Order: sequence, then structure tokens, then C-alpha cells
Amino acid sequence: MKLETDLIHLGRPSETPAPVNPPVVRTSTVTFDSLGEMRDVKQRRGEGERLFSYGRRGTPTTHALEDAISRLECGEHTQLLPSGVAAINLVFMTLLRPGGHVVIADSVYLPVRRIVEGWLRPWGIVVDFFDGTPEHLLSQLRTDTQLIYTEVPGSLVYDMQDLPALASIATKRDIPLAVDNTWASGILMRPLEHGATVSLMAGTKYVVGHSDVMLGSVTANGDIGRRLGEMAVTQGQCLGGDDAYLALRGLRTLKCRMETHASNAQRLGDWLAQQPRVARIHQPSRTEHVGHDLWQRDFNGTNGLLTVEFTVDTDTARVDALVEQLMLFGIGSSWGGFESLALPCDIATARSLDDSWLRRGPCLRLHVGLEAPGDLEADLGRAWQALEN
Ligand SMILES: *Cc1c(COP(=O)(O)O)cnc(C)c1O
Repeated sequence: MKLETDLIHLGRPSETPAPVNPPVVRTSTVTFDSLGEMRDVKQRRGEGERLFSYGRRGTPTTHALEDAISRLECGEHTQLLPSGVAAINLVFMTLLRPGGHVVIADSVYLPVRRIVEGWLRPWGIVVDFFDGTPEHLLSQLRTDTQLIYTEVPGSLVYDMQDLPALASIATKRDIPLAVDNTWASGILMRPLEHGATVSLMAGTKYVVGHSDVMLGSVTANGDIGRRLGEMAVTQGQCLGGDDAYLALRGLRTLKCRMETHASNAQRLGDWLAQQPRVARIHQPSRTEHVGHDLWQRDFNGTNGLLTVEFTVDTDTARVDALVEQLMLFGIGSSWGGFESLALPCDIATARSLDDSWLRRGPCLRLHVGLEAPGDLEADLGRAWQALEN
């Protein structure tokens, strides 16, 4: 079956008569008929079976969401977490040991640097960054490298990477490769199909799609998939039934939401590229985007994100004034919901290898929502005048 067909049918109750959606199970305790039944469940659980045995270990509602995300990511095991950042931490917690070494892409989501400074380095893990190219990755690997961690495309300006080439280096050296797949959210690209070991997502963004739930997921095959699940239990990481229910509901419409986000963002990107003071539109689907060929080769489409880079002589205060003028774009973090958002961003603070951003113009990230694109264009057109006042 095609992915979009499975996304409609996965994780739904099979007994009849049945509701269309799985019921929300809210529980800590799970009760058994007898001690014998309880002991049997615990034994099978110990042997690796996924069973309904205690709230922290998952419920039929979270299991349904796990199955759907496993299909979306084309992997065997999915672990759910209470946020995308918790998903990143689970990967590091499972695959790194004190005294070990990790290589991280320079274009990662900024809070990863907080994990590096606040946890990994103080706990004796050596961290190096690479510029996204296979050549630089090779030069940063050491004999004690335990993990390669990347995100494709990178945060804020969507730096492309040759994922199969990175995966082939990782495989040859027998080092796990973890990929943050939030941008594609499974529907546009699946890292495990390109040779990655682990794919993680902030489900908070497009999977949930309605800006009302925090969610992380980590998907992997075989032994590493099982180890990630065991570490989540060890760490006490779990997701509530209501959040799992809403995420599963969001997943049903992921495909059609993504198509509308993409066509709206493509149209706005074309329009913005013609506006005064625009130096560049960062959006992998644009032919002038660096690595556009890799995007065409590895991805099924684009999403609602684009970032406007202003000419170098543009004052950041003018960009702030433009944002204040917008009526249809909310001011706030995150993206992937149905609504449009605008966020000025300083790329230089998010990179440690590439200082070219210190000499470039300010940037404005837009998440293009499901509004009529003509209305969004008119809103931006009005606000653009703030640049010249
Ligand atoms: C938002 C985001 C995260 C973190 O997700 P939260 O659910 O907000 O913790 C991780 N990676 C990327 C690429 C993101 O955009």
C-alpha cells in the first residue's frame, strides 16, 4: 500500500463494532485477572514483547501511534517522547558513553548546542562539529567515535547534505548515524531508507500539525531500536493518552496538509524573491538553492518553511518593524501547525564553523500556513513597506 493509504488505516481498532479512532486510554495501573496472568505478561515483556502492562510502558493508544510512526519512518521500533528535544536526548543517552566522541552537523537545531554544553561535554563526551560534507565528516571521525548526528536539511536556512554518502561512511566505520527528520516528517523523506541508523522527529511540528501537542519520536531497526526503547523505560520517558490520540489524528491528514503548505510556500517564495531588499530566499525547492539537486534526488516534496535573507545593508530593526506590521503571521517559535508564523533569526549564533553569516544580511523565517496564499501575500506586501519607512 502507498504510505498515504496506510496513514488512514494504521492504528485503528480492529474489533467490531468499533469507533473509527482508537479510544484514549488514560491509566497508570493495569489490572490483571490473576497473579499468573500478571507474571506471564511481565515475563513476555522481559523477553522484548510490547505489552500493555503499566502506563509508563505505553498503552493501546500510544502503541497505535508508535505503529503509525514506524510505518511513516519505514522502521521497526518507534519510541515516543514528550518533546522533540527529549527524542534527541534519548538518542545521545542510548548511544554515547562518557569518554566517547560524537560528530554533529554544524547546521543542527540550535538547542542541540545547549545539550552539548549543558550535558555532553560536562559528562566527558568529546563533541566535534562537521560542515555537512562527507569529506569534512571523514576528517572529524576518530577511532572512539560512537555516533554521527545530523539533520537534513539543516535548521533555519535548510543546508542540504548528501545523506546516502554520509550513511555509507557511517556504515563502513560501523558508527550509528542519527538524523533529525523533522523537516520532512517522514512524508517527504525517510532517513532509514537512505542508510541512516536512527531517525527522530519533533512530532510537535507537522505530525501533530495543529500546534496543540508536544511530541518526539525515535525510530530504528533491530538491536538499536530495542536499546532505545529500553533506555526510554530506564529514563521514565512516556507520553499521555490524550497527546497520543491528538497526534494520531493529526497524522491522518499529514499528506494533504503538507501539499497545501508546500504550494502556498512555493507561491510566496516566488513572490518574495521579487521584493525589494531580498537578497535570497532559502527554500530547497528553489532551483538556485545550494544542494537543490540533492533535494530533488532524495525528497518527495517541500513543506511550508522558507527563510528570507535580506540585503546586507538592511537594519535588523527594520525587519523587526516589518514583523510587527504582519497581521496574519503570528510571532512565535515552532512551525508545522496550520497557521502562519514569522520569526527573525540570527544564523551566526546557530553556527560554529561557518562565520560567513556575520557578514550577511538579517534573516526572517516564515512558516506558511493553510490560509489563502493571496491573503498572505497581501499581508506581506503591506508589511514590506515598513522596510523603507
Ligand atoms: C522543533 C524542533 C525540535 C524540537 O522539538 P520540540 O518538540 O519543540 O522539543 C527538534 N528538531 C528540530 C529540527 C525542530 O525544528
